[in-house]
Amino acid sequence: MNIHEYQAKELLKKYGVRIQEGILAHTAEEAEAAAKSLKREYNSDWCVIKAQIHAGGRGKGGGVKLAKSPADARELASKIIGMQLVTHQTGPEGKKVHKVLVAQDVYYPGASETKEYYVGVLLDRSTGRNVIMASTEGGMEIETVAEETPEKIFKEWIDPSVGFQPFQARKIAFALGLSGNAFKEMVKFLDALYKAYVDTDSSMFEINPVLKTSDDKILAVDGKVNLDDNALYRHQDLAELRDLAEEDPLEVEAGESGLNYVKLDGNVGCMVNGAGLAMATMDVIKLSGGEPANFLDVGGGANAKTVEAGFRIILKDPNVKAILINVFGGIVRCDRVASGVVEAYKNIGEINIPIIVRLQGTNAELGAQIISESGLKVFPAILLKEAADKIKEVLA
Ligand code: GDP
Ligand code: MN
Repeated sequence: MNIHEYQAKELLKKYGVRIQEGILAHTAEEAEAAAKSLKREYNSDWCVIKAQIHAGGRGKGGGVKLAKSPADARELASKIIGMQLVTHQTGPEGKKVHKVLVAQDVYYPGASETKEYYVGVLLDRSTGRNVIMASTEGGMEIETVAEETPEKIFKEWIDPSVGFQPFQARKIAFALGLSGNAFKEMVKFLDALYKAYVDTDSSMFEINPVLKTSDDKILAVDGKVNLDDNALYRHQDLAELRDLAEEDPLEVEAGESGLNYVKLDGNVGCMVNGAGLAMATMDVIKLSGGEPANFLDVGGGANAKTVEAGFRIILKDPNVKAILINVFGGIVRCDRVASGVVEAYKNIGEINIPIIVRLQGTNAELGAQIISESGLKVFPAILLKEAADKIKEVLA
């Protein structure tokens, strides 16, 4: 689960990470009031208006603007709130901005004496350890840095049995070329950041940029946090940070029906029992000349109820030209799945696209028979090859 920058910063602050302070605003008026309050607090007319969406690259897309006064903040906020913000992470359709963070301008005064860094904590699956990545190339996309100047990314792996050690924090601060007070601040920053990451069961914390201010303070200007969904059950407070408006409505609906659905942009919808089989099914669709419209794992018990929910979700996607149901009857029997498909189909009414149902495993023949005799526009298949050929045929 992703959270907003303002939520990530509040979280970090609780753990003692110094942050660029800010106030959330939903309207231009609120933004002006927030700017006035920051002006009183920090004695500066300037502030930054930052679009809150679940995507990075907001600055380049026009979602981060410097305001020179509270009136200016109001003006800029009125333009940013409601805009369809396009960044390299949103896709060409962009994301609608519903709120902005009005943040203190931490680059001024003395902007020339500030320096941006990159710091990220994430799970390195290849070593099974958390790794802290740091770079002097802050503000840039880390993927670009990794590609062009990988030597500028410094990595420190954490041994889970002893945790993050003070010498490691010093090593990173040293690698970033820091000294004096900034060095001490960075050591504290890293320690607090790592604690926040571990305590919240996150899979990623990325702070880009981390800023060294003109008076040698180290603070988080941005915050991208990915919480591990599988651990949310033990973090009720974090689960509440979820912003459904930022998530794909079809994915939200699927989650409510207990389905594992990820929207993709192809033309063949698929419904499968089991994540591994779903991946293989997507390969088969591609090999048949189609493109998967989604990943959908209905779980072990593919019954009329889950199949109907799956149908409804897949059919909401206007790109879908055919649906492939691929179920392996191991524990669940194919004839029951077939009856479920027929029942679900009838509950929905007329479905105007071809549906191919491939059932394999216990009672596969009986399942295929139920499908063929249903009188519906549903084609049975037992072998995956038959299903693939049928997709080719209906897409042609
Ligand atoms: P992102 O583009 O989505 O990663 O959003 P960021 O929060 O990283 O902000 C983008 C850029 O805005 C940063 O890299 C900074 O250069 C700039 N920025 C952020 N806060 C301030 C600030 O307080 N003052 C000034 N002058 N620039 C800022
Ligand atoms: Mn950033």
